[in-house]
Amino acid sequence: MQERIRNIAIIAHVDHGKTTLVDAMLKHAGVFRENEAITERVMDSNDLEKERGITILAKNLSVHHGRYKINIVDTPGHADFGGEVERVLKMVDSVLLLVDALDGPMPQTRFVLKKSLDLGLKPIVVINKIDRPGSRPDEVVDMVFDLFCELNATDEQLDFPIVYTSAKLGFAKLDLNSDSNSMEPLFAVIESNVHPPAGDSKAPFQLLVTNIDYNDYIGRIATGRIFNGRVKAGETVALVRRDGSIERGRITKLLGYEGLKQVEIPEACTGDIVTVAGFDDVGIGETLAAADNPVALPYVSIDEPTISMN
Ligand code: GDP
Repeated sequence: MQERIRNIAIIAHVDHGKTTLVDAMLKHAGVFRENEAITERVMDSNDLEKERGITILAKNLSVHHGRYKINIVDTPGHADFGGEVERVLKMVDSVLLLVDALDGPMPQTRFVLKKSLDLGLKPIVVINKIDRPGSRPDEVVDMVFDLFCELNATDEQLDFPIVYTSAKLGFAKLDLNSDSNSMEPLFAVIESNVHPPAGDSKAPFQLLVTNIDYNDYIGRIATGRIFNGRVKAGETVALVRRDGSIERGRITKLLGYEGLKQVEIPEACTGDIVTVAGFDDVGIGETLAAADNPVALPYVSIDEPTISMN
Protein backbone atom coordinates (compact mmCIF):
# COMPACT_ATOMS: atom_id res chain seq x y z
CA MET A 1 0.00 0.00 0.00
CA GLN A 2 2.75 2.46 0.99
CA GLU A 3 4.35 1.94 -2.43
CA ARG A 4 1.12 3.04 -4.08
CA ILE A 5 0.63 6.29 -2.17
CA ARG A 6 1.65 9.67 -3.55
CA ASN A 7 1.35 12.70 -1.27
CA ILE A 8 1.40 16.04 -3.04
CA ALA A 9 0.36 19.65 -2.55
CA ILE A 10 -0.62 22.11 -5.24
CA ILE A 11 0.90 25.55 -4.99
CA ALA A 12 -0.43 28.34 -7.14
CA HIS A 13 -1.14 32.02 -7.27
CA VAL A 14 -4.83 32.73 -6.81
CA ASP A 15 -6.81 32.29 -10.07
CA HIS A 16 -4.14 30.27 -11.81
CA GLY A 17 -6.53 27.32 -11.75
CA LYS A 18 -5.90 25.15 -8.70
CA THR A 19 -9.57 24.47 -8.07
CA THR A 20 -10.27 23.75 -11.72
CA LEU A 21 -7.28 21.41 -11.94
CA VAL A 22 -8.38 19.42 -8.91
CA ASP A 23 -11.89 19.17 -10.34
CA ALA A 24 -10.44 17.90 -13.62
CA MET A 25 -8.31 15.30 -11.81
CA LEU A 26 -11.28 14.08 -9.78
CA LYS A 27 -13.40 13.90 -12.88
CA HIS A 28 -10.73 11.91 -14.70
CA ALA A 29 -10.59 9.51 -11.77
CA GLY A 30 -14.35 9.09 -11.96
CA VAL A 31 -15.23 10.78 -8.71
CA PHE A 32 -18.03 12.64 -10.41
CA ARG A 33 -20.57 10.36 -12.00
CA GLU A 34 -21.31 11.08 -15.61
CA ASN A 35 -23.93 13.74 -16.23
CA GLU A 36 -23.58 14.94 -12.71
CA ALA A 37 -22.99 18.64 -12.68
CA ILE A 38 -20.01 19.80 -10.69
CA THR A 39 -21.87 22.40 -8.78
CA GLU A 40 -19.55 22.99 -5.93
CA ARG A 41 -15.96 23.78 -6.50
CA VAL A 42 -13.78 21.45 -4.57
CA MET A 43 -11.31 23.48 -2.62
CA ASP A 44 -13.52 26.50 -2.13
CA SER A 45 -15.95 25.06 0.39
CA ASN A 46 -15.04 27.32 3.26
CA ASP A 47 -17.31 30.34 3.57
CA LEU A 48 -14.60 32.71 4.63
CA GLU A 49 -12.56 31.57 1.72
CA LYS A 50 -15.42 32.18 -0.68
CA GLU A 51 -15.88 35.63 0.70
CA ARG A 52 -12.25 36.56 0.34
CA GLY A 53 -11.36 34.54 -2.70
CA ILE A 54 -8.26 33.06 -1.15
CA THR A 55 -7.55 29.70 0.32
CA ILE A 56 -7.34 29.91 4.08
CA LEU A 57 -7.72 26.43 5.47
CA ALA A 58 -5.71 23.46 4.38
CA LYS A 59 -8.02 20.72 3.19
CA ASN A 60 -7.17 17.37 1.79
CA LEU A 61 -8.65 14.98 -0.67
CA SER A 62 -7.56 11.88 -2.43
CA VAL A 63 -7.82 10.59 -5.94
CA HIS A 64 -7.63 6.90 -6.82
CA HIS A 65 -6.05 6.32 -10.17
CA GLY A 66 -5.29 2.78 -11.25
CA ARG A 67 -3.36 1.19 -8.41
CA TYR A 68 -2.35 4.55 -6.99
CA LYS A 69 -3.84 6.70 -4.31
CA ILE A 70 -2.89 10.34 -4.68
CA ASN A 71 -3.44 12.43 -1.57
CA ILE A 72 -3.70 16.10 -2.47
CA VAL A 73 -3.13 18.51 0.36
CA ASP A 74 -4.28 22.06 -0.17
CA THR A 75 -1.75 24.78 0.54
CA PRO A 76 -2.41 28.38 1.36
CA GLY A 77 -1.10 30.41 -1.56
CA HIS A 78 -0.75 33.51 0.52
CA ALA A 79 2.39 34.71 2.22
CA ASP A 80 1.19 35.42 5.75
CA PHE A 81 0.25 32.11 7.24
CA GLY A 82 2.84 31.62 9.90
CA GLY A 83 3.87 28.02 10.15
CA GLU A 84 0.93 26.61 8.23
CA VAL A 85 2.72 26.31 4.91
CA GLU A 86 5.60 24.37 6.43
CA ARG A 87 3.27 22.10 8.33
CA VAL A 88 1.37 21.26 5.18
CA LEU A 89 4.51 20.80 3.11
CA LYS A 90 5.95 18.39 5.67
CA MET A 91 3.12 16.00 4.87
CA VAL A 92 3.94 15.76 1.17
CA ASP A 93 6.72 14.37 -1.02
CA SER A 94 6.32 16.79 -3.92
CA VAL A 95 4.39 19.83 -5.04
CA LEU A 96 2.68 20.74 -8.27
CA LEU A 97 3.71 24.30 -9.01
CA LEU A 98 0.79 25.53 -11.07
CA VAL A 99 1.44 28.59 -13.23
CA ASP A 100 -0.84 30.45 -15.64
CA ALA A 101 0.51 30.15 -19.21
CA LEU A 102 -0.27 33.79 -19.91
CA ASP A 103 0.40 35.56 -16.61
CA GLY A 104 3.50 33.62 -15.62
CA PRO A 105 4.75 33.26 -12.03
CA MET A 106 3.37 35.82 -9.59
CA PRO A 107 4.75 37.14 -6.30
CA GLN A 108 2.39 35.09 -4.14
CA THR A 109 3.61 31.82 -5.66
CA ARG A 110 7.18 32.69 -4.84
CA PHE A 111 6.82 32.37 -1.07
CA VAL A 112 5.41 28.85 -1.16
CA LEU A 113 7.85 27.75 -3.86
CA LYS A 114 10.70 29.00 -1.70
CA LYS A 115 9.42 27.02 1.29
CA SER A 116 9.09 23.91 -0.89
CA LEU A 117 12.61 24.22 -2.26
CA ASP A 118 14.01 24.92 1.20
CA LEU A 119 12.39 21.73 2.48
CA GLY A 120 14.13 19.81 -0.30
CA LEU A 121 11.01 19.00 -2.28
CA LYS A 122 11.35 18.51 -6.01
CA PRO A 123 8.43 20.29 -7.68
CA ILE A 124 6.57 19.28 -10.83
CA VAL A 125 5.82 22.38 -12.92
CA VAL A 126 2.32 22.55 -14.38
CA ILE A 127 1.75 25.27 -16.97
CA ASN A 128 -2.02 25.77 -17.00
CA LYS A 129 -4.50 27.59 -19.27
CA ILE A 130 -2.61 26.74 -22.45
CA ASP A 131 -5.94 27.14 -24.25
CA ARG A 132 -5.96 30.84 -23.43
CA PRO A 133 -5.55 33.05 -26.48
CA GLY A 134 -2.15 34.70 -26.32
CA SER A 135 -0.78 32.15 -23.85
CA ARG A 136 3.01 31.83 -23.99
CA PRO A 137 3.90 28.53 -22.31
CA ASP A 138 7.53 28.43 -23.48
CA GLU A 139 8.27 31.90 -22.14
CA VAL A 140 6.50 31.06 -18.90
CA VAL A 141 8.65 27.94 -18.47
CA ASP A 142 11.74 30.16 -18.84
CA MET A 143 10.36 32.53 -16.21
CA VAL A 144 9.74 29.62 -13.86
CA PHE A 145 13.27 28.35 -14.43
CA ASP A 146 14.64 31.82 -13.58
CA LEU A 147 12.53 31.89 -10.43
CA PHE A 148 13.94 28.51 -9.35
CA CYS A 149 17.46 29.86 -9.93
CA GLU A 150 16.74 33.01 -7.95
CA LEU A 151 15.51 30.86 -5.08
CA ASN A 152 18.70 28.81 -5.12
CA ALA A 153 17.17 25.57 -6.35
CA THR A 154 19.54 22.62 -6.50
CA ASP A 155 20.44 21.04 -9.85
CA GLU A 156 18.04 18.24 -9.08
CA GLN A 157 15.19 20.66 -8.34
CA LEU A 158 16.00 22.62 -11.52
CA ASP A 159 15.56 19.48 -13.56
CA PHE A 160 11.80 19.68 -13.03
CA PRO A 161 9.25 17.75 -15.07
CA ILE A 162 6.87 20.02 -17.01
CA VAL A 163 3.24 19.27 -17.75
CA TYR A 164 1.10 21.58 -19.90
CA THR A 165 -2.58 21.65 -19.06
CA SER A 166 -5.91 23.13 -19.77
CA ALA A 167 -7.66 22.35 -16.52
CA LYS A 168 -10.76 23.97 -17.94
CA LEU A 169 -10.90 21.75 -21.02
CA GLY A 170 -9.61 18.74 -19.08
CA PHE A 171 -6.39 17.81 -20.84
CA ALA A 172 -2.71 17.57 -20.03
CA LYS A 173 0.31 17.01 -22.24
CA LEU A 174 4.05 16.64 -21.90
CA ASP A 175 4.86 18.17 -25.24
CA LEU A 176 3.07 21.24 -26.61
CA ASN A 177 2.98 19.75 -30.10
CA SER A 178 1.30 16.54 -29.07
CA ASP A 179 -2.41 15.87 -28.93
CA SER A 180 -4.21 15.01 -25.74
CA ASN A 181 -7.77 14.93 -24.67
CA SER A 182 -7.37 13.76 -21.09
CA MET A 183 -5.57 14.40 -17.81
CA GLU A 184 -3.78 11.03 -18.04
CA PRO A 185 -0.31 12.49 -18.72
CA LEU A 186 -0.46 14.49 -15.49
CA PHE A 187 -1.22 11.35 -13.49
CA ALA A 188 1.61 9.50 -15.23
CA VAL A 189 4.09 12.22 -14.27
CA ILE A 190 2.90 12.30 -10.65
CA GLU A 191 3.06 8.53 -10.31
CA SER A 192 6.52 8.20 -11.82
CA ASN A 193 8.20 11.33 -10.43
CA VAL A 194 6.90 11.58 -6.88
CA HIS A 195 8.49 8.95 -4.67
CA PRO A 196 6.31 6.88 -2.38
CA PRO A 197 6.23 8.14 1.20
CA ALA A 198 9.26 7.21 3.28
CA GLY A 199 8.79 5.56 6.66
CA ASP A 200 9.08 2.15 8.22
CA SER A 201 5.85 0.21 8.06
CA LYS A 202 7.14 -2.29 10.62
CA ALA A 203 8.23 0.33 13.15
CA PRO A 204 5.93 1.45 15.99
CA PHE A 205 3.10 3.76 14.93
CA GLN A 206 3.78 7.52 14.75
CA LEU A 207 1.48 10.19 13.31
CA LEU A 208 2.29 13.90 13.29
CA VAL A 209 -0.75 16.09 13.87
CA THR A 210 -0.86 18.82 11.24
CA ASN A 211 -4.41 20.06 11.43
CA ILE A 212 -7.13 20.24 14.04
CA ASP A 213 -10.79 20.54 13.27
CA TYR A 214 -14.07 20.09 15.04
CA ASN A 215 -16.98 17.93 14.06
CA ASP A 216 -20.40 18.21 15.75
CA TYR A 217 -20.78 14.45 15.99
CA ILE A 218 -17.35 13.18 16.80
CA GLY A 219 -15.75 16.20 18.47
CA ARG A 220 -12.21 17.32 18.01
CA ILE A 221 -10.45 15.65 15.11
CA ALA A 222 -6.79 15.63 14.23
CA THR A 223 -5.33 15.17 10.76
CA GLY A 224 -1.80 14.19 9.92
CA ARG A 225 0.53 11.86 8.14
CA ILE A 226 1.54 8.47 9.45
CA PHE A 227 5.33 8.60 9.43
CA ASN A 228 5.88 5.04 10.71
CA GLY A 229 3.90 1.92 11.41
CA ARG A 230 0.19 1.40 11.07
CA VAL A 231 -2.92 2.06 13.09
CA LYS A 232 -6.36 0.54 13.53
CA ALA A 233 -9.67 2.11 14.43
CA GLY A 234 -10.43 1.41 18.09
CA GLU A 235 -6.78 0.98 19.01
CA THR A 236 -5.35 2.53 22.15
CA VAL A 237 -2.46 4.88 21.36
CA ALA A 238 -0.37 7.48 23.17
CA LEU A 239 -0.69 11.20 22.62
CA VAL A 240 2.74 12.75 23.12
CA ARG A 241 2.31 16.44 23.86
CA ARG A 242 4.71 19.21 23.04
CA ASP A 243 5.63 19.52 26.72
CA GLY A 244 6.59 15.84 26.69
CA SER A 245 3.61 14.63 28.73
CA ILE A 246 1.85 11.50 27.58
CA GLU A 247 -1.81 10.55 27.61
CA ARG A 248 -3.13 7.22 26.43
CA GLY A 249 -6.51 6.99 24.76
CA ARG A 250 -8.57 5.15 22.19
CA ILE A 251 -8.94 6.13 18.57
CA THR A 252 -12.72 6.26 18.43
CA LYS A 253 -12.82 6.98 14.71
CA LEU A 254 -10.28 6.62 11.95
CA LEU A 255 -11.08 8.47 8.75
CA GLY A 256 -9.50 8.39 5.33
CA TYR A 257 -10.27 10.32 2.18
CA GLU A 258 -12.33 9.02 -0.72
CA GLY A 259 -12.37 11.76 -3.31
CA LEU A 260 -14.02 14.67 -1.56
CA LYS A 261 -15.47 12.69 1.31
CA GLN A 262 -13.98 11.54 4.55
CA VAL A 263 -14.90 7.95 5.22
CA GLU A 264 -14.33 5.59 8.14
CA ILE A 265 -11.57 3.08 7.52
CA PRO A 266 -10.55 0.09 9.65
CA GLU A 267 -6.83 0.58 9.31
CA ALA A 268 -4.18 2.86 7.80
CA CYS A 269 -0.54 2.40 6.91
CA THR A 270 2.74 4.30 6.78
CA GLY A 271 2.66 7.30 4.45
CA ASP A 272 -1.07 7.79 4.49
CA ILE A 273 -2.80 10.98 5.60
CA VAL A 274 -5.67 10.30 7.97
CA THR A 275 -7.96 11.93 10.50
CA VAL A 276 -8.55 10.56 13.98
CA ALA A 277 -11.09 11.26 16.70
CA GLY A 278 -10.85 10.39 20.38
CA PHE A 279 -8.47 12.98 21.74
CA ASP A 280 -10.34 16.05 22.99
CA ASP A 281 -7.39 18.33 23.54
CA VAL A 282 -4.88 17.17 20.95
CA GLY A 283 -2.88 20.03 19.43
CA ILE A 284 -1.00 20.79 16.25
CA GLY A 285 2.58 19.56 16.25
CA GLU A 286 1.85 16.73 18.71
CA THR A 287 2.43 13.06 17.97
CA LEU A 288 0.12 10.10 18.20
CA ALA A 289 2.30 7.07 18.82
CA ALA A 290 2.12 3.40 19.72
CA ALA A 291 0.90 3.02 23.31
CA ASP A 292 3.97 0.99 24.27
CA ASN A 293 6.44 3.24 22.43
CA PRO A 294 5.33 6.86 22.99
CA VAL A 295 8.01 8.71 21.02
CA ALA A 296 7.38 12.17 19.54
CA LEU A 297 8.18 13.09 15.95
CA PRO A 298 10.29 16.24 15.40
CA TYR A 299 8.48 19.39 16.35
CA VAL A 300 6.82 21.47 13.61
CA SER A 301 6.37 25.20 13.72
CA ILE A 302 2.95 26.15 15.05
CA ASP A 303 2.53 29.88 14.56
CA GLU A 304 -1.12 30.83 14.51
CA PRO A 305 -2.30 31.72 11.03
CA THR A 306 -2.80 35.45 10.52
CA ILE A 307 -4.73 36.67 7.56
CA SER A 308 -3.49 39.64 5.65
CA MET A 309 -5.35 41.04 2.70
CA ASN A 310 -2.65 42.94 0.88
P1 GDP B 1 -7.75 29.05 -8.18
O1 GDP B 1 -7.97 30.37 -7.55
O2 GDP B 1 -6.30 28.79 -8.41
O3 GDP B 1 -8.45 27.90 -7.50
O4 GDP B 1 -8.34 29.19 -9.68
P2 GDP B 1 -9.70 28.64 -10.29
O5 GDP B 1 -9.64 27.19 -10.53
O6 GDP B 1 -10.81 29.17 -9.49
O7 GDP B 1 -9.66 29.34 -11.72
C1 GDP B 1 -9.67 30.73 -11.85
C2 GDP B 1 -10.29 31.11 -13.21
O8 GDP B 1 -9.49 30.59 -14.25
C3 GDP B 1 -11.68 30.51 -13.41
O9 GDP B 1 -12.46 31.45 -14.11
C4 GDP B 1 -11.41 29.28 -14.26
O10 GDP B 1 -12.51 28.94 -15.08
C5 GDP B 1 -10.25 29.76 -15.11
N1 GDP B 1 -9.42 28.62 -15.54
C6 GDP B 1 -8.90 27.63 -14.79
N2 GDP B 1 -8.20 26.78 -15.55
C7 GDP B 1 -8.29 27.26 -16.82
C8 GDP B 1 -7.77 26.80 -18.07
O11 GDP B 1 -7.09 25.78 -18.18
N3 GDP B 1 -8.05 27.58 -19.16
C9 GDP B 1 -8.79 28.72 -19.09
N4 GDP B 1 -9.01 29.41 -20.22
N5 GDP B 1 -9.30 29.16 -17.93
C10 GDP B 1 -9.05 28.44 -16.80
